[in-house]
Amino acid sequence: MAASVAAVPLSGIARRAHADSNARIAVVGAGAFGSWTALQLRNAGADVTLIDAWGPGNSRSSSGGETRVIRAIYGADRVYVEMVKRAYELWETLDPSLYVETGAMWMHRGDDAYVRSSLPILHDVGFIVDKLSVSDAARKYPQIDFSGVKSVYYERRAGALSARRACGVVRDAFVKAGGRYRTGSVKAGSLGPLRLEDGSSVEADVYVFACGPWLGRVFPDVVGDRVRPSRQEVYYFGTPRGSERYRAGNLPIWIDFGERIIYGIPDIAARGFKFADDTRGEAIDPTTAERKPTQAGIARARHFLAERFPELAKAPLIAAEVCQYENSPDGNLIMDRHPNARNVWLLGGGSGHGFKLSPAVGEMATAAILLGKDVPAQFRLERLRNLEKRKTQFESKD
Ligand SMILES: Cc1cc2nc3c(=O)[nH]c(=O)nc-3n(C[C@H](O)[C@H](O)[C@H](O)COP(=O)(O)OP(=O)(O)OC[C@H]3O[C@@H](n4cnc5c(N)ncnc54)[C@H](O)[C@@H]3O)c2cc1C
Repeated sequence: MAASVAAVPLSGIARRAHADSNARIAVVGAGAFGSWTALQLRNAGADVTLIDAWGPGNSRSSSGGETRVIRAIYGADRVYVEMVKRAYELWETLDPSLYVETGAMWMHRGDDAYVRSSLPILHDVGFIVDKLSVSDAARKYPQIDFSGVKSVYYERRAGALSARRACGVVRDAFVKAGGRYRTGSVKAGSLGPLRLEDGSSVEADVYVFACGPWLGRVFPDVVGDRVRPSRQEVYYFGTPRGSERYRAGNLPIWIDFGERIIYGIPDIAARGFKFADDTRGEAIDPTTAERKPTQAGIARARHFLAERFPELAKAPLIAAEVCQYENSPDGNLIMDRHPNARNVWLLGGGSGHGFKLSPAVGEMATAAILLGKDVPAQFRLERLRNLEKRKTQFESKD
């Protein structure tokens, strides 16, 4: 079914930029970050070309696959909580069918400081979180065995976003708004005009590289292995015949916070019960990797299910995705100018949590590119160099 594409209304930033911006901008990468950035730049009046090697939300990209979690608990980091708030507004305006509200339940086997430290900020920004007693949670969700769980928090506004489909919807909105989309693979090292593998080139005034896990390959000197793609497996298990217990509405998104962070999404659109382990996997080449799930990963998942979701202990694996996180060293996003080219911008470092934020990323990048607005210090390239310095100091003490 074709998704309905609504024109995203201009934010204040975009409106101010609209009158005087007719800059030619090329955006490389039509994943969540690049497609939202292209759309916002176009809405602000820029003349934008969006280029992708394999297409928006393709199965090699970090934005591929079925669903992503959107939640506002982000520890004590106000920047992200506010971005989530804005992202909700923009996702909703673009296409409400991309979001299914489920709520999110955080179960802690030990320290719950990450959630607790977020509560005052969430309260300020307008997100409601309930603390549940373990016994109340167990009564509410009999599908779950709460053994070993010490505290439970329930985030009321949280849910699942369509991933791959959303990238296509954003690209379509961009084209409808007058943007140009083309397939093409941009050669590494071309700061502009862009040189493509097919011999053609694209000239613009500003270049934005939103290349996800490929960012280090496109900029080996400036980024290199500071963005490290890690292999992540996602499984969909079959739910019992005729049962609604594992569907959205009867089961929230759940996060099991122990030595590992394991999480899942209830059955949406009959795809199955989604299970994922947030632990960073081994290094992966996003272009050439075979995306087959491992027996060891499946066995670990089954072991977990037997403990936490006993009814699913023997559930069949009905689908799987092998994706990758594009990890920055501190898990923060990257949004900055290239240090040697003021008209070249780098966007990325989603680090396993970037998808939900992508509309706000696009808006922030647009304000930075067209209006020269500052981006938060934690997104600047400079901090990566500082992190490395810190690491070296620490190592030298050993
Ligand atoms: C298993 C998994 C679970 C996740 N769960 C969540 C979650 O629950 N919530 C959440 O918010 N986030 C989550 N994330 C993270 C989130 O999905 C990513 O951070 C986000 O999608 C990154 O988007 P991107 O646009 O930066 O990268 P990508 O989606 O990888 O897009 C980059 C694009 O650039 C193109 N490209 C690269 N190089 C070139 C080139 N040289 N020329 C032309 N095109 C090029 C690629 O084809 C690709 O389409 C998860 C990620 C994974 C893998």
